[in-house]
Amino acid sequence: MSLIIVGSIALDTIETQAGSVSDVPGGSSSYCSIAASYFTTPHVVGVVGEDFPESVITLFKDHHINQAGLVSEPGKTFRWGGRYAENFDERTTLFTELNVFETFNPTLPETYKSADYVLLANIHPGLQHHVLDQLESEAFIVLDTMNLWIETAHAELISLMKRVNMLVINDEEALMLTGERNYGKAAQKLKDMGPEWVVIKKGQHGALLFHESNVFAVPGLILDKVIDPTGAGDTFVGALIGYLAQSKDHSFDNMKLAIVFGSVLASFCVEDFSVNGITYLEEADLEERYDAFVVMSQF
Ligand code: AMP
Repeated sequence: MSLIIVGSIALDTIETQAGSVSDVPGGSSSYCSIAASYFTTPHVVGVVGEDFPESVITLFKDHHINQAGLVSEPGKTFRWGGRYAENFDERTTLFTELNVFETFNPTLPETYKSADYVLLANIHPGLQHHVLDQLESEAFIVLDTMNLWIETAHAELISLMKRVNMLVINDEEALMLTGERNYGKAAQKLKDMGPEWVVIKKGQHGALLFHESNVFAVPGLILDKVIDPTGAGDTFVGALIGYLAQSKDHSFDNMKLAIVFGSVLASFCVEDFSVNGITYLEEADLEERYDAFVVMSQF
């Protein structure tokens, strides 16, 4: 048992300047698991309703995602709607319908309890604590969160940070948690709160990796086509931990590669609606994108 991913599984309705789609596959876990599947077999924990399309279950199967921890409950699947401003940087949440997600209590199947890598994708910090309470192994734990939980579940999030190895958040969330606009000072404060590794995502401007006194920066790729940024952050962290679970190497040099592969998958994510940009990619697609990052960063 290597990697387990716990997060939301949703049907999203999205409006961007490129168009709109409704009831398409979404949720933190869907993006994370598909991205991780290019490197290892992700074991997903989540809940869907009776209306969850069979075609998406097939899509997960096609990506070799283990679904033993995916339960189907009577009722409707979690739904989320968002609208992006013209510059894609600002997003308004149109609606959040919890449905079966309201009573979600993530339960790890016995075989999941010995995981080596755990991705706590974006869900309530109380549920993330509950996942860690069930683990029987010394796993490498990566934590993702969002502004909602920083505001509404602050104390639980702060205590959770003491239990994880890596925190992956965006620049706005780093500012909210630390009050620091300076990335170095923010990262130091975040490390002081618990995680040994901190990644600060800067949207289209790339990401920063902090560990001890080391810093690594990966650029944002210049893309001709941006259609839908939904799930880019989830895709980034999914590929990152997928790569780690495959390589099992926690050196700073290998973490750099994990951040680059996170960025590679995230760059595909934004090129289409929903998970369409990251499904059924070939190894050659990933290699070509990886080379583009090398060309852009080398001097
Ligand atoms: P991101 O673009 O990385 O912020 O992730 C977007 C995804 O998060 C969408 O597919 C939503 O279904 C999902 N999402 C939105 N709100 C929540 C929430 N409160 N809890 C868990 N997942 C959410």
